[in-house]
Amino acid sequence: MKNAFIIATGTELLIGNATDTNSAFIAERLAELGIKTIGKIIVGDKKEEILGAFRLGADLADIIISTGGLGPTKDDLTKETACEFMQVKMEVVDQEAAKLKDFFARRKKAMPDSNIKQAMFPQESVILPNELGTAPGMYLFKNGKIIILLPGPPKEMKKIFTDKVEPLLREKLDSQVKKAVTKTIKVFGPGESQVEEMISEIIDDPQGCSIALLAVEGEIHIRITAEGENSEDSRKIMEDVTDRIKTKLTDHIYGHDNDTLPSILAELMKENGMTLAVAESCTGGYLAKTITDLPGSSAYFWGGAITYSNEAKNELLGVRKEIIASYGAVSQETALVMAQGIKRIADSSIGLSITGIAGPEGGTETKPVGLVYIAIVGDKLEKVKPLNFTGDRESIRILSVKSALDLIRRSIAGQ
Ligand code: AMP
Ligand code: MG
Repeated sequence: MKNAFIIATGTELLIGNATDTNSAFIAERLAELGIKTIGKIIVGDKKEEILGAFRLGADLADIIISTGGLGPTKDDLTKETACEFMQVKMEVVDQEAAKLKDFFARRKKAMPDSNIKQAMFPQESVILPNELGTAPGMYLFKNGKIIILLPGPPKEMKKIFTDKVEPLLREKLDSQVKKAVTKTIKVFGPGESQVEEMISEIIDDPQGCSIALLAVEGEIHIRITAEGENSEDSRKIMEDVTDRIKTKLTDHIYGHDNDTLPSILAELMKENGMTLAVAESCTGGYLAKTITDLPGSSAYFWGGAITYSNEAKNELLGVRKEIIASYGAVSQETALVMAQGIKRIADSSIGLSITGIAGPEGGTETKPVGLVYIAIVGDKLEKVKPLNFTGDRESIRILSVKSALDLIRRSIAGQ
């Protein structure tokens, strides 16, 4: 398998002014191609630092990908440094110089002299056009290595990577890479060690796959790479391991690859012609926000009520004051009446409510911070799920939202 090394350049990334998101994106995409990232480095804008990074990269990997430092300013030195490292010269590429002039002319701006630097490229390099900015990327083969230089702005980098670098890597890499198949199985419910235990038999005997578990905001992602004799063989191995995992984890699996809990909710609601209305207390609209992040959610999402205070629960949802007085705002009883209330008002197929203590204050011995009730009410369904989360306010709210989406998913599937 081919190895890659990623270099993120930019002093702003070192001092915390900006976060290096580029290398995470690249590493993820490389993994999908079956290319292993064996190292990443962030360096400043100084020539020696960048040179050191290239040297390290060349020591460790076959593919070196850098981002940043391709702009026109004095601190953009990646191209020059890469040339020094590879011992090739820079030359002006006429076509690029013309494009650059045109770019400025169309914007009715004078082109600063320093910009001509952007039309200069290492000899023997292939230019990767940048449709979203003025700094193109480039790659070249040297001493058995592929060196790829990409611009820093994430949007530009991602577009070039997707449109140009991925096809390049797919084409250039040997059959080893082409034949690998990857898949991520997504699980919500059990924790990481529980999942590990449930599929320990498969992890111990992966039969031609590599399996890695990843905990992502309350979800467990099982990342599988299958490598057989050829791509068909790899797909067969992947199918087998997926079947084995499904047998063990059954309904804890909510989807795979690009699926998210909200996207699965959308599929289920549409398939079944259902509508949903929500009543939120401790999540303050977070659930509605998450559902409506998905375009087209109006097909199944009626809307909801943010009933944070007791008055709102009473006046908007009809939760009787006596219920809150006897059981509390965070209780099974209140959760249930909230869900019934919003379902009645919306006349939806499902009413869902969340009430809980997100903290950091407000916990008691019997009702600690992290106690959350989620109720779901359908035409023939009434269920309240008590949950005990740990973590800060933000995590408790995120987990509440995900648990609510998961509860709907499981309920529709009739579990
Ligand atoms: P540069 O191409 O180095 O001039 O960078 C242009 C812009 O892209 C700057 O705003 C940087 O903060 C941003 N940028 C550069 N490298 C990265 C990176 N690795 N991750 C996220 N943003 C970056
Ligand atoms: Mg920079």
